[in-house]
Amino acid sequence: MNVLLIGSGGREHALSWKLAQSPRLRTLFAAPGNPGIAAHAQIVSLELTDHAAVVAFCAEQSVELVVIGPEAPLVDGLGDSLRAAGIAVFGPDKAAAQLEGSKAFTKALCDRAGIPTAGYVHATSRAEARHALDRFGVPVVVKADGLAAGKGVTVAMTREEAEAALADLFGARGGEAVIEEFLEGEEASLFVLTDGKDILSFGSAQDHKRVGEGDTGPNTGGMGAYSPARVLTPELEARAIEEIVKPTVAAMATAGTPFSGVLYAGLMLTADGPKLIEYNARFGDPECQVLMARLDEDLLEVLLPVANGTLGERGPAKWVAQTALTVVLAANGYPGTPASGGSIDDVAEAEETGALVFQAGTRLEGAQLVASGGRVLAVTALGDTVAAAQAAAYHAVDQIVFPSGFCRRDIGWREIARDAG
Ligand code: AMP
Repeated sequence: MNVLLIGSGGREHALSWKLAQSPRLRTLFAAPGNPGIAAHAQIVSLELTDHAAVVAFCAEQSVELVVIGPEAPLVDGLGDSLRAAGIAVFGPDKAAAQLEGSKAFTKALCDRAGIPTAGYVHATSRAEARHALDRFGVPVVVKADGLAAGKGVTVAMTREEAEAALADLFGARGGEAVIEEFLEGEEASLFVLTDGKDILSFGSAQDHKRVGEGDTGPNTGGMGAYSPARVLTPELEARAIEEIVKPTVAAMATAGTPFSGVLYAGLMLTADGPKLIEYNARFGDPECQVLMARLDEDLLEVLLPVANGTLGERGPAKWVAQTALTVVLAANGYPGTPASGGSIDDVAEAEETGALVFQAGTRLEGAQLVASGGRVLAVTALGDTVAAAQAAAYHAVDQIVFPSGFCRRDIGWREIARDAG
């Protein structure tokens, strides 16, 4: 079978690495791809907003499955166009992708379906937003509506910080904001595959969103992750599935917008149980890297029934018993303006340690690999414990020569601190 993978990040490098191992795969195409993905896929140049061109490519090349990695093409309705042409797609259509694209949409769905989440006000004026601040007190959370790549959220500890966030959002043009009650607890990510009817629990992870060690500094797309997140115990996972995921899948189907693909639930594990912080409509990056490192079955055979609507009641997904941990190497300046063009050497030495080096913002200048984005590499290793996986990942990181880059040195710290008692 021929498969087209959409995307160019570390997430898609991990997906391409895993898909390439499938005996059922004939040719894997990728657009836009990156130099890492090129090792597993034939890179094709496609204008992703030109849906007709993507459909025509799939028809010409007998592509039977399109796997859409990032959120933007999902929200743009690429899945809708492909499905309309009879091509199977892993990833939701435009209406269902609103679960990620619109916080207001998701909050309204949570209300209807009785899903545990933070209390909120969807404010369409600054006065309304201020009123909500009076009601919730501090800490309080101020969110932009729409896609903001995880960066449109302010957790304000003081009223002044909250007001500053509102000034940003409502600025000169007016705007919209979701003001939320602050939830106290530890965060975990739960991944669930669904074809719109049935579900398959697909692992957990904990990511590290802040740029600085000890979870300090500005938010990023993610500086590292590990899986499984043992803080999400089997009991808590079962509760999250019953109280959050299943009602969501049912409510989406009832609304006539069934969700098909991967539902990534960002959870806060509060004293009252798991509460939904947000949904994403695709795999997390870098959470996908740790999930793929652990997956112990054929990814194509997992994704196909989801895309075809034939998931049914299959058995649980198979995972290696180890923990996977990934460390993101980012270009200096990230998450502000990242230094571009810095040389990256000795990736092969890192891979020789047994680690997986997934590429994100990289490009080739002749034979030289250079940085071309904020997050550049995701160095991923397995270990019998989180500490062992962490040691293996940093051992691999230390082989790589990337003078204009940096990484956090404490990925996995919460779990390691817990283990140390
Ligand atoms: P989001 O983009 O909605 O996932 O928010 C980004 C980050 O902000 C989350 O990963 C949390 O760390 C934090 N956050 C969001 N909503 C809340 C909330 N209601 N209470 C506490 N922290 C939150």
